Amino acid sequence: MTTERTAIVTGGASGIGLAIAERLAHDGNAVAIFDRDGAAAATAAAKIEAQGGTAIGVEVDVTDRARIDAGVTTVRERLGRPTILVNSAGLDGFDPFLKITAEKWNRILAVNLTGTFDCCQAVVPDMIEEGWARIVNISSSSAHGGQPLMTHYVASKAGVIGFTKALALELGPKGITVNTIPPGFIDTPMLRASESKGRLGEGVEHHAALTPVRRVGRPEDIAAACAFLVKDEASYVTGQVIGVNGGRNT
Ligand code: NAP
Repeated sequence: MTTERTAIVTGGASGIGLAIAERLAHDGNAVAIFDRDGAAAATAAAKIEAQGGTAIGVEVDVTDRARIDAGVTTVRERLGRPTILVNSAGLDGFDPFLKITAEKWNRILAVNLTGTFDCCQAVVPDMIEEGWARIVNISSSSAHGGQPLMTHYVASKAGVIGFTKALALELGPKGITVNTIPPGFIDTPMLRASESKGRLGEGVEHHAALTPVRRVGRPEDIAAACAFLVKDEASYVTGQVIGVNGGRNT
């Protein structure tokens, strides 16, 4: 298969990030999977390669700027200049507001918001040199309407939305689009972990029955929207919040 572009997908070893990595590879892009679990990233890359795609797994914790920079160097050497970045690495949390420690607050902000900032800053010089690029940040539908017990998480994801809008304005003249997809209620290990901890009330199937399209979202639903946003034909779409949530938020 001839490869189109080189993409980096953070959090690409699981859930939404994994589906995006598989879809971008299927669409002909070489994909670097950045995940803090290096073995899981390598397994995901091997699966893509077995299906005829081009992929590598790289152990990168997005809270470690030195590891991000080293990971981007690896991508340049092995796959070529990265011109697509999808920030999907994320950490949730459920804590009553008055019980949130400074450590917990800082950790969630570090992964979700600062991690997104650092990955963008590490890759944007390549993107500017290329004069064409796509950035897609995975935020959260919880930033539309809020979510009790998640002030840290919701604040971090609302930050990602604001960051996306501002960066889009700055990078638009350079041929780089920046958009965000806030997913809502997608069946991933993160969602099932919340369910098993009793954070979803009566559970996933109950919420699915209340969702306008009457099902839980699939990681592939997010991957499909992302696949569009990284295409050439999406060059007039930037700074946008593209909700994919089965109608749970409008
Ligand atoms: P997931 O299955 O847990 O996948 C997240 C991936 O990110 C995991 O592989 C995780 O590794 C990795 N990761 C976590 N912290 C990292 C770090 N510091 N550096 C590098 N990788 C890290 O969750 P998901 O549901 O696919 O979530 C993907 C994104 O969508 C997240 O940003 C999440 O907030 C967002 N989102 C999901 C939903 C939903 O309904 N599922 C809704 C709204 C927003 P570990 O497994 O080792 O932690």
